[in-house]
Amino acid sequence: MRLGTVDGRAIVIDEGRSYDVGVASEGKLPADPVVLLEHWDEFQDWAASGADRPWSDLTLTRLGPPVPNPRQVFALAVNYADHAAEAQREVPEHPYVFTKFPSCITGPWADVVLPSNRVDWEVELVVVMGTGGHHIPASEAWSRVAGLTVGQDISERRVQFRKPIPHLSISKSFPTFGPTGPWLTTPDEVLNPDDLAISCDVGGDEMQSSRTSHMLFSVPTLVELISAITPLLSGDLIFTGTPSGTGSTRDPRRYLQAGDVVVSRIEGIGEIRNTCVDSAAG
Ligand code: ZN
Repeated sequence: MRLGTVDGRAIVIDEGRSYDVGVASEGKLPADPVVLLEHWDEFQDWAASGADRPWSDLTLTRLGPPVPNPRQVFALAVNYADHAAEAQREVPEHPYVFTKFPSCITGPWADVVLPSNRVDWEVELVVVMGTGGHHIPASEAWSRVAGLTVGQDISERRVQFRKPIPHLSISKSFPTFGPTGPWLTTPDEVLNPDDLAISCDVGGDEMQSSRTSHMLFSVPTLVELISAITPLLSGDLIFTGTPSGTGSTRDPRRYLQAGDVVVSRIEGIGEIRNTCVDSAAG
């Protein structure tokens, strides 16, 4: 199943058509995606019941982020060995978790507003929590995940590398620095949720290309290790880290410029397209 939003309301998507969950359930299920994900099991049973639904044509450009208002947004700093190498960082013994503040979350076709000339791209698989929980064992992790979506962990490198310690959370939380979408795809819809092709083009050039099986800490391991400390809540997002090919590690370095279109793709989920604009124009 694919679940997205239009105007902040949860919709079920099938090819070029969709229906509004709140309308179709006559108000029995909530329209707000976070509240709906709190009723994830009930919703899945209802959605699978085979009843007629009020399908209508979906205009893709109307799609917003799958979860516009998550309570917690986790992100991984170094979770691919090739990216660790290019960033000249040691492979960590424990996952390096930071937060993207939820106000940075935006939709699949949203403009990315550039506050400076040091803004970089990072395509990432993003996990959307369903039922969530505290102390979730890896063996149960996929059953607590509602779905997977495509994300960009847009990063302002000048702020990030302020001395003496990295400023990860704030440098990756400017408005529009968290494009996600175009929908969440439930794990059963993809061939192997632990091994998906992931790539990113900038201005028509392929910059990143890898597979999620190259993650140092897999999705089930991340869910186990994060939830061992912080309870995961319905609708929470986990940005699972980026593979190699970011702009600040290229020679010569390349940063996003106004007019650049960033296309981010993950096999079995889809792609998002974000156009960069100067902050004066945004
Ligand atoms: Zn990242």
